[in-house]
Amino acid sequence: MPVAIRKDQYCDQRQRRTEAACTILDAPEVWQGLLMALTIAMYHYVRDLARTRYPAIKGRDLAAFRGQLDYIARHHTVVTAEQVMLAVKSGEALPENACWLTFDDGYADHYQTVFPLLDERGWQGSFFPPVCAVRDGQLLNVNRIHFILAATKDLNGLLTLVRQFIEEHAGYPDLRPFDAYWSELALASRLDPAEIIFIKRILQHGLPAALRDELAAILFRRFVSVDPAAFAAELYMNSDQLRTMIRAGMYVGSHGATHAWLDRLEPASQVTEIDDSLSYLNSLGAPTEEWVMCYPFGAYNHAILALLERRGCVVGLTAEVGVAHLGINAPLLLPRLDTNDLPIN
Ligand SMILES: [Zn+2]
Repeated sequence: MPVAIRKDQYCDQRQRRTEAACTILDAPEVWQGLLMALTIAMYHYVRDLARTRYPAIKGRDLAAFRGQLDYIARHHTVVTAEQVMLAVKSGEALPENACWLTFDDGYADHYQTVFPLLDERGWQGSFFPPVCAVRDGQLLNVNRIHFILAATKDLNGLLTLVRQFIEEHAGYPDLRPFDAYWSELALASRLDPAEIIFIKRILQHGLPAALRDELAAILFRRFVSVDPAAFAAELYMNSDQLRTMIRAGMYVGSHGATHAWLDRLEPASQVTEIDDSLSYLNSLGAPTEEWVMCYPFGAYNHAILALLERRGCVVGLTAEVGVAHLGINAPLLLPRLDTNDLPIN
């Protein structure tokens, strides 16, 4: 049973992370809300790994995905993005053990593999494609890095190349010595050892922008492919496929325009990221009056939350780990569970 809670309890509870989030919490209409548990499952690659060119890519294997859908069918009721937005806005109750299926990054896997399996069950999935990947066929830096790491097992060799690259560019504005980056960025995460996190972070945001793009391109050419455009065309969905999914009742929301760390952008660039993604969603026929944001890398700050509020965003998806509780979590800061955190049978 949903449990009603009072406003003073609500605002004092966990997850009151930022002032902007608290402003959103204070909205009286949200306030009448009920406390409802919502498991938000997060997926990236979903593929028959053994039968792909890069079986080492960190993805959900097809057989396990099918098993997980069976598990979800037994233990949860799958809800739609619209149901979640209604619950946030007007306190409309969600079913018990509600589960929301979310798929990040606009991979072709989602159209080819996920969409038919969800459609077969009459379930809605929510998909969050970055505009430059699905509209323009640009290979995202984040994916370049995934495939570099999947294509070589020699992490030390990779670290040596990074070190050499930095040494060769000594004197470049704002470039620091390798060891300075190492001590700042080589921090193991829940899912990855320190070496992997270091390579991801130095290529995502550690090096000055032009250098990280250059280094990622060199490593990608060397280990993965000499044709990033062809690679991107194979990796991502396209706009027509997204329109087809929307017609079939799937939900498509914002994952920004260029898959940037939104908290690291100037306010004007944040506006561009969000507005470009909204006009793209509009061109697909996806809703943009009330909509869902999925933060690339789970990254946000005060300015982004305030901007989303002004643009009518109802729900925000982070990469925080946990079951969401509507009525406790700020609606723009809902935590999710990675597919690896949920059973597969
Ligand atoms: Zn992403």
